[in-house]
Amino acid sequence: MMSNEIIDKADKVMARTYKRSPVVFVKGRGCKLWDSEGRAYTDFVAGIAVCNLGHAHPRVAKALSVQAETLFHVSNLYYTVPQTELAAWLTEHSFADRVFFCNSGAEANEAAIKISRKYFSDKGETVRYRIIAMEKSFHGRTMATLSATGQDKIKKGFDPVLEGFDFVPFNDTEALRKKIGPSTCAVLLEPIQGEGGVRCPEPGYLEAVRQICNESGTLLIFDEIQTGIGRTGTLFAYEQFGVEPDIMTLAKALGNGLPIGAMLTREHIAESFGPGAHASTFGGTPVITAASLETMKTISEENILDHCKTIGAYFKEKLISLKDRHEVIEDVRGMGLLLGMKLKIKGESVVKACMEKGFVINCIQDDILRFIPPLIIGKSETDSLIACLDEMLKG
Ligand SMILES: *Cc1c(COP(=O)(O)O)cnc(C)c1O
Repeated sequence: MMSNEIIDKADKVMARTYKRSPVVFVKGRGCKLWDSEGRAYTDFVAGIAVCNLGHAHPRVAKALSVQAETLFHVSNLYYTVPQTELAAWLTEHSFADRVFFCNSGAEANEAAIKISRKYFSDKGETVRYRIIAMEKSFHGRTMATLSATGQDKIKKGFDPVLEGFDFVPFNDTEALRKKIGPSTCAVLLEPIQGEGGVRCPEPGYLEAVRQICNESGTLLIFDEIQTGIGRTGTLFAYEQFGVEPDIMTLAKALGNGLPIGAMLTREHIAESFGPGAHASTFGGTPVITAASLETMKTISEENILDHCKTIGAYFKEKLISLKDRHEVIEDVRGMGLLLGMKLKIKGESVVKACMEKGFVINCIQDDILRFIPPLIIGKSETDSLIACLDEMLKG
């Protein structure tokens, strides 16, 4: 079928929840994508920071197919090997002692919200249920996670949202200090705000947040759904700030394209998730966890983190040099391969023009171009995109 046939058909039968580019992708390999007309593209979106090892990675594909021929699913009424091994890998490589598996980012944050409340409820402190989140944050689209999201456009039309969420500006320690009170159970934030515009913490901010949480006995939750799994150049972004959370949520790149989420925490908090407290039918199912485990092993065995740091710094430098040449660029920011370029114009036309030139890029908040390629992106691919943007921004 031709692209336009598929597009027409999809537009008749799919919910209208997404504004899609008029392209039908049929194949991917590494940092390349092909559409149904046979055109090739270089992918700087990676399925929204998901395919960190690139498309159809041979090791992940192999692990997936081997497990698919062995055992798909049995439920969490029983033990399975891939799930156990993945949880062991994640706890060995993070601050956490225990892992709860689910299927998406929103569900991971749901689990974080639930365990924070339950932790204090178990201690008899039922008044301690409020969560402080950040303005411009993004935590998901379920009722609880949109309630925790600091963007009005995401809540519009869904009132009443869930009770118990307060908001302060990101990077404002004083506002947080003032807002935190005897009813606060947790502070929830992304170490670098992704959907909100690739906004980085100012030096010392995350340390100060940790300090405020320690002083008030409040739990600190890091939503590393976008920043985790190597995206910023370390396995988890918190490592670069020297600040450990009490709870961390993961999803996006955890399965390199397969749906999986996880909530990780320390032993004394994990105690509040006893048998029956929380559950997910598909959470940590063998096929997905086998692929996820292979993703993690590949990242650590194939020097992906160092490559991400090096190429990320190179890419950022090139974006900054574009800013020096083009009036229309307001700001360049980000870490590793989570990079943003704020424009003084709307970004939609740039995204469209890049697509026509064979580059898949993304725009958030109307005027911020976001670059989140597979972590295996090379120098020459980066140079080609920079040259394309350079030419385009002249106009
Ligand atoms: C994408 C994202 C989510 C939501 O993940 P879903 O899998 O779409 O539910 C939550 N938090 C952050 C920081 C994200 O980037």
